[in-house]
Amino acid sequence: MENKLIQSNAEDYDIEKHPNIKGVQIIEGKNNFPISWLNQQGYCEYQIYLQYFKDIKVGATAAMKQGTAVHNELENKFKETAEVASFEDVMEMSKETATISREVFVISPENGIRGFIDEIQMTPTEFIIIDDKPGTTPYNSTINQVRAYCLAFKELIGDDTRKIRGALRQRGTDNIFWSEEFNEDVEKSIKFVLDRMEGLFNGTKPFIPTKNKNKCRSCRYQSYCEHF
Ligand code: SF4
Repeated sequence: MENKLIQSNAEDYDIEKHPNIKGVQIIEGKNNFPISWLNQQGYCEYQIYLQYFKDIKVGATAAMKQGTAVHNELENKFKETAEVASFEDVMEMSKETATISREVFVISPENGIRGFIDEIQMTPTEFIIIDDKPGTTPYNSTINQVRAYCLAFKELIGDDTRKIRGALRQRGTDNIFWSEEFNEDVEKSIKFVLDRMEGLFNGTKPFIPTKNKNKCRSCRYQSYCEHF
């Protein structure tokens, strides 16, 4: 496979900051949030309220810092052999030769999401959207995250009919521990979650705190949380 470093297309959009929610942008008249927030949404929605609505700042955990370090190391190693190319060129080339790209920015104004995909493998028959995770457990929150990347990617590729597959991989290894085809049912399911997120942003749905006290015990926001 050939390594391709895809240039970002973020500058193609007019972006406004949301007046009250840190990190939410308004793109083409719609709230747009980072896909990584779906991890928090699955863990505890109240964390999203504390972090982005109340703007409470807490430090990163040791596990988060270690994850960032491994991530950066993989990224730097990839860049040593990757050639810079446009998204369109890599799409075209991959019809003949399989390619690998890392840290690919995707944005979907229509679905209100954006983010960086850890790795995309484009082959003549399918696209594999890979998110690297520290363990080997496919949590609903991480599955939702990779599904949202697939949805945003689907909007970018237009009428290309190659299949899209989402996958979770153990960070720093080749171990794909979960994967699925991004089909119509999966698309419906992730759109339902995105609709809930929009409900949180526009105030029509409440932030539901987790009932799992084990999650609260390891939560970085516990000293600020009225539900702890
Ligand atoms: S302490 Fe518990 S309820 Fe509060 S934000 Fe953290 S995980 Fe959610």
